[in-house]
Amino acid sequence: MAQHTGYSRWVDNLYGSELDIVDRFFPSSKTCSNCQDIKQDLTLSDRWFTCNNCGGFNHRDLNASINLASYADGLSVKVCGVDNADVTTVKQKIKSN
Ligand SMILES: [Zn+2]
Repeated sequence: MAQHTGYSRWVDNLYGSELDIVDRFFPSSKTCSNCQDIKQDLTLSDRWFTCNNCGGFNHRDLNASINLASYADGLSVKVCGVDNADVTTVKQKIKSN
């Protein structure tokens, strides 16, 4: 993890982007991506997430991914010095440098 974040920070400095690390105890797997209810009894062997509150049903990893994407949505995205850049803009910026 430390090596990965070190590399990410190097890339951040190179392109002017920003690295945000989610707290390791953020309950991305246990939180319903539909209603944000937390399922305390979800175990590592549970591969599917069924919400006790709204009945939402997803693969555990997809549910966690949606929660992490929602977390990141609240953050400003700046790549290669461009705010809210899309992939095409980033590729063009890299080619021009
Ligand atoms: Zn739910």
